[in-house]
Amino acid sequence: MNTKEILEQSGFNFKKKFGQNFLLDQNILNNIIKEANITNDTLVIEIGVGAAALTKKLSLKAKRVLGYEIDESLKEPLSVILKENDNVDIIFDDFLNRCVKEDLKKYEYKTLMVVANLPYYITTPIITKFIDEQIDVEKIIVMVQNEVADRFSAKAGVKSYNSLTIFLNYYFDIKKAFVVSRNVFYPKPNVDSAVVTFTKKRSNLKADDEKLFFKLVRDAFCQKRKTLKNNLKSYNLDKINETLKKHNKDITFRAENITMEEFIDISNNLSK
Ligand code: SAM
Repeated sequence: MNTKEILEQSGFNFKKKFGQNFLLDQNILNNIIKEANITNDTLVIEIGVGAAALTKKLSLKAKRVLGYEIDESLKEPLSVILKENDNVDIIFDDFLNRCVKEDLKKYEYKTLMVVANLPYYITTPIITKFIDEQIDVEKIIVMVQNEVADRFSAKAGVKSYNSLTIFLNYYFDIKKAFVVSRNVFYPKPNVDSAVVTFTKKRSNLKADDEKLFFKLVRDAFCQKRKTLKNNLKSYNLDKINETLKKHNKDITFRAENITMEEFIDISNNLSK
């Protein structure tokens, strides 16, 4: 029996509320795997196993795959689909409610990676969870909405650049790898997708006071059309101007034109 027949036999229904758009194209699945450089020392976390098209391929390369799937009605079909993939464990639960560090305790591995075709309604909380919970991930390779991929990988000066871009780019080098047409999913979603890679940053460019840095960035973008002068009224504007002058900018600029490195510089000067 193929996957479609197994799903049908179990009475499975696609659930829009869980963002269930399953990926069918073998070439795209292979291209996602290629981005990952998985070895037999790698533990891969997959969020949203679905019908396990990606899981099966991950299982052939990785030491183990730890999958999360919210939809318990996939339990029975997945036990059939994955019966020959004995290095796959699936936790049937909402990924956002898990203590991932606790889940990882029973595994031994050299490198941890995340590879997933994400449920689009919770893309950002899933990615920020790895940062917030300080989970040491080498690489995250995820399929997201094309528009969201643009935001994650945006550079200063581009419309989609915002405080989230800076937050994520503080921890990861982010690259939009390739665009994926909506036609290769079942059911077909309303938007195109893209695969984005997040690689853990090696550089030690850090803000002296990270709390201040992230607050500064959030406040600077508070009203996107306003200048720094207007958004950052509660800060020492002279000091901010002094730092910006070094970069040939000043407080009449908008946050969207300030790079992450410049924000770090401003924050470090403010915290002196
Ligand atoms: N990996 C499969 C593929 O590539 O075809 C399915 C991807 S589909 C876009 C997203 C999957 O995430 C669905 O199977 C959905 O049930 C699951 N999901 C949605 N919300 C979830 C959550 N909070 N925790 C774990 N899985 C979730």
